[in-house]
Amino acid sequence: MAEPKTNELMEKIVSLCKRRGFIFQSSEIYGGINGFWDYGPLGAELKKNIRDRWWNDMVRQRDDVVGLESSIIMHPKVWEASGHVGGFTDPMVDCKASKQRFRADQIFFAAVVVDGKTVGYVSALESDRTTEDLQEKAETFKRKKAIQGKLELVQPKDFTEAKPEEVPLVPSPATGEPGSLTPPRGFNMMLETNVGALRDESSVAYLRPETAQGMFVDFKAIVDTGRVKIPFGIAQIGKSFRNEITPRNFIFRSREFEQMEMEYFISDEDDWQKWHRYWIDWCRNWLLSVGLPADLLSEYDHPKEKLAFYSKGTTDIMFRFPFGVQELWGIAARGDYDLSQHAKFSGAGLVYFDEASKRRYVPHVVEPAVGIDRILLAILCSAYCEDQAPDDKGKMETRVVLKFHPRIAPIKVAIFPLLKNKPELVKKAMAVRDLLRPYLTVFYDEAGAIGRRYRRQDEIGTPFGVTIDFDTLGEKPELLDTVTLRERDTMQQTRVKISELVPLLLEKIR
Ligand code: ATP
Repeated sequence: MAEPKTNELMEKIVSLCKRRGFIFQSSEIYGGINGFWDYGPLGAELKKNIRDRWWNDMVRQRDDVVGLESSIIMHPKVWEASGHVGGFTDPMVDCKASKQRFRADQIFFAAVVVDGKTVGYVSALESDRTTEDLQEKAETFKRKKAIQGKLELVQPKDFTEAKPEEVPLVPSPATGEPGSLTPPRGFNMMLETNVGALRDESSVAYLRPETAQGMFVDFKAIVDTGRVKIPFGIAQIGKSFRNEITPRNFIFRSREFEQMEMEYFISDEDDWQKWHRYWIDWCRNWLLSVGLPADLLSEYDHPKEKLAFYSKGTTDIMFRFPFGVQELWGIAARGDYDLSQHAKFSGAGLVYFDEASKRRYVPHVVEPAVGIDRILLAILCSAYCEDQAPDDKGKMETRVVLKFHPRIAPIKVAIFPLLKNKPELVKKAMAVRDLLRPYLTVFYDEAGAIGRRYRRQDEIGTPFGVTIDFDTLGEKPELLDTVTLRERDTMQQTRVKISELVPLLLEKIR
């Protein structure tokens, strides 16, 4: 199977998404708006399948997790208590020459050291080959300046680690020249709005930057009204908003995105590491269950010294995207920080009373947090492939296939009458469509040669195709009321009785 090269692959995926109605740039007819995306008919189905599956596995199939849908705009104090007003910042750097803006932790730089002496600096934007980029730039630098001596291997650092005296010496990634980058400064990523008729400071509110705070703020209401007993979790799916400095990599980093988060409350005396491991494994298995290949997943433990002071441990499940290995799902052990902060700021008693031990305490929490858009992108990237298949005349041609797991494929089965100008075939095909429709997402297609119709479905990842031909109508009496069932990946076709289609397909999709 041909494996397209990295960026070429991203370009192909972006173009396929646009061409076939998965994802469009938001407000495109007005020139677009950076960091916002629209999901078209197929994208909306795919996203819904991911969302529904997570909700089913996380909430409906478990006794210990309940669901929540809290409001997007909450009392502004929520974000003071959570630390977002004061600290939800990314380090921002401006290039005064190009007027471009960067995230400091995405600019990498290194000293060019020859015979133990620093002779200059090179920089590169973060990629999956940052170190190689910097090394090549250092070699070019030395050659261009005709410096003699032995060039040492570069030691990359990100721009947040630049010493004040280094800042003016690091070249801007935009211009390649030093002197135009500002020192990093904090940029708050919360999007503001005003609530009510007055537009002054007292009416400022925020679009939530994460869904998690809803679970902490409603903790007491859920404990008081529900059937929950520690350990238990509260799960929520919903939109979040971050004014990202550099939205990029298609839907990977956007300003409006959708999260699936769960707060799992445990006793302050329980072994948090056990639960942390449990949820890392749960998340990894869930990703495998929607078809992500194990060899593209890895784990990254945040180093202790980089954790927030309250955090006990954070592990990210990473995915190898075509643009590098990046965070997909973060699983954080957050201690009792969030509940304690909200208790302090609101005055509400956010303690839990344990009936058995008659003890009151503030529960600790383990939080798996993931973005649906990122999962969807990971699914698209790993599902995309090109192979060779014969066209209607038997000539080999390149076939583009999205090998979605049938569970999450936007359309499960396509229905084709062999010919559209034969009313008996069309009538029968429509009857098959109506038979399947209550159980599965189906797509009826009668336009063009059958081979073309197969290709169109392969390209949008439809796992099964059902063709109604003259044998279905009884041309060969022993084949009356049978159809061909074609499998997307193998392209193999089998003859199946119409009456057996529903159970057979449901079994394959489950
Ligand atoms: P990053 O370091 O990539 O900015 P983060 O560590 O700030 O992410 P969290 O605050 O832990 O992310 O958010 C939880 C999850 O939400 C992430 O693992 C990711 O899947 C998703 N997510 C966060 N920011 C974005 C974004 N701007 N666009 C799309 N998804 C996002």
